[in-house]
Order: sequence, then structure tokens, then C-alpha cells
Amino acid sequence: MEPRLRLCPRCGSHEVHADHLTPLGQRHKCRECGYEGSFVIEADSLEDAKRIREELQAQLEEASEEPDDGDE
Ligand SMILES: [Zn+2]
Repeated sequence: MEPRLRLCPRCGSHEVHADHLTPLGQRHKCRECGYEGSFVIEADSLEDAKRIREELQAQLEEASEEPDDGDE
């Protein structure tokens, strides 16, 4: 009965908002990391969302040690 939660695929935040519709589909925007795109992760529950976020944050920490990230 809980609605599905939309999570940012980059940082795992649930601060992902529907931005605008494009011919390719709904675009979403993350308030925390600035991610924009049509792909979002859907979680079935708060526990699921939390677990996904923790995994993504761990990946982000690993990735942030790579020096070659040209942030656009
Ligand atoms: Zn994000």
C-alpha cells in the first residue's frame, strides 16, 4: 500500500522529481546531485530504498577516488 519510491540512480537520494516530458519519456531531476535523466530506480519500500542508497553511496565513495571525472 506504500507507493513506489523513486530514487536517483547516481546518489540514491529520493529527492528525485519529475522534471518535464520529452518525446523519449519522463525526465527526472535529482536535487541532491543534479542528476537528470529518464532512468530512476524504483524501490518497493523504505527499507529497500535505504539499502539501495547505501549501496550507491558506497559506490560513489569508491568512484570519487578516481581522478579522471570531468564533471559536466
Ligand atoms: Zn542524485
